[in-house]
Amino acid sequence: MSITKQDVLKKYFGYDSFRPQQAEIIDKVMDNQDCLVLMPTGGGKSVCFQIPAILRDGLTVVISPLIALMKDQVEALRGNGINAAFLNSSLSSAEQDQVMWQAKVGELKLLYIAPERLFSGNTFDFLREWNVQLFAIDEAHCISSWGHDFRPEYRQLSNLKLRFPDVSVIALTATADRVTRRDILKQLGIEHAETYIASFNRPNLSLNVLPGRKRIQQIQSFVYKHDGQPGIIYCLSRKGTETVAASLQNAGFKAAFYHAGLPSEQRSKVQEQFLKDDIQVIVATIAFGMGIDKSNVRWVIHYNLPSNVESFYQEIGRAGRDGSPSDTVLFYSYMDIITRQDMINNSEQSEEQKELLHAKLNRMKQYAEADICRRRILLSYFNEAVEKDCGNCDVCRNPRTRFDATVIAQKALSGIARTDQKVAMGMLIDILRGSRNRNVLQYGYDRLPTFGVGHDLRGEEWAEYISQLLNSGVMDIAYDEAHAFKLNAASRQILKGERKVELVKFIPISERKAKEEEL
Ligand code: ADP
Ligand code: ZN
Repeated sequence: MSITKQDVLKKYFGYDSFRPQQAEIIDKVMDNQDCLVLMPTGGGKSVCFQIPAILRDGLTVVISPLIALMKDQVEALRGNGINAAFLNSSLSSAEQDQVMWQAKVGELKLLYIAPERLFSGNTFDFLREWNVQLFAIDEAHCISSWGHDFRPEYRQLSNLKLRFPDVSVIALTATADRVTRRDILKQLGIEHAETYIASFNRPNLSLNVLPGRKRIQQIQSFVYKHDGQPGIIYCLSRKGTETVAASLQNAGFKAAFYHAGLPSEQRSKVQEQFLKDDIQVIVATIAFGMGIDKSNVRWVIHYNLPSNVESFYQEIGRAGRDGSPSDTVLFYSYMDIITRQDMINNSEQSEEQKELLHAKLNRMKQYAEADICRRRILLSYFNEAVEKDCGNCDVCRNPRTRFDATVIAQKALSGIARTDQKVAMGMLIDILRGSRNRNVLQYGYDRLPTFGVGHDLRGEEWAEYISQLLNSGVMDIAYDEAHAFKLNAASRQILKGERKVELVKFIPISERKAKEEEL
């Protein structure tokens, strides 16, 4: 009796049953058909090509952009008794020759190769002699400039189907927006391919957005409450990772930072310590996490706003891979949006590309500012309809109410008008609340009619409402004038009483339901 895919799953990977879609995808590949697989990170994409590779004669060539991960993946396969190797610039030329020889004589089932290596020298010509049966294109969104991680070297993969029309292709990605998906098929020349979309819903992850004030303090109390539970904090900058890690260390937690500026030995060491639970908290840039196989990460915090929903989703997806309840927290304030917008505007991208990046950022903003179930918003991004509210996000637990905030808006806007549109967030709040601090006194702002008109609201409430006013476009901000607030046509209508404003009621964290006390 011949060996089945179930046997292979059990024998080589130790699992009893397939996850949804895996079996169908494997059948399709075994039938020599092209396909595109969209599955969230940790969803189990690899076995979709590894099992066919084991079952079929000949060689499966796996194209992967992440040189650092190839070695781990190949070692894992070898550890399970599967003949695999990789070809990339980290090998000496003698080692590369050795691998090419193994491929030629048919000793290998899987060969991992970086795209730049595939198209350098005469590797591409050698492929003809290697009895290639299947191309697996991992991180396939890298081929599309619509995706969030375009890599020009991936573009050359559009030659594959032209040069090897009979070899089937399986493209895999965790990025699934419609445009990128169509572009992947087009670029690879596999428009007819069957597309498999696994659910992106991860109900065990709680989704939470917290106001981005006193972040370090909030994090310390969060880590304290998540006693001993492993977690990851993502920061925008390398410096940020170091600062946050130091603050946690000073508070007595086992924390370390991780970013691409560290020597590789140190990075491996930190990673290793985290895997073994010797370190509880990793504070990292996005450089951390690709291919980290730690199933019991209990929480992920975003210290800064990610640039797009795909990256955000991938990063929170590193929590709770074992299916147990896990928490995700995004810190958010209007400054995060400004920082990201500046980064896009100051980048070297084409105007068209900038527009795309702004659109992607905007989707992230919608998530952060949601006043409906956050999971609905997240999943709608991946074109997945949701039947009902999730019950496991902060909005579901604390339904938002809107109220007529015209008077609040008028107070804030007149504060801006009376100071000749020169003040930014901190000063405006001080004026509204009537704080007689040195800066306020220095400018004589304590003599303004608006001084103290907003003493009934706390500073955090004002910050929240002013952010909402900015986000709803009824006032502006000048990035190039130390973020001073500006009035626009809508502001003037509100000041004249010609226009009403609704805002979402602020709920102090101490009054939010159950779950929030743990955050
Ligand atoms: P992806 O590439 O989609 O991020 P992986 O292929 O690395 O995900 O798989 C994530 C984890 O799920 C791995 O530890 C893998 O061994 C495991 N896995 C894959 N398929 C199954 C299965 N059918 N049953 C149980 N675990 C599985
Ligand atoms: Zn919800």
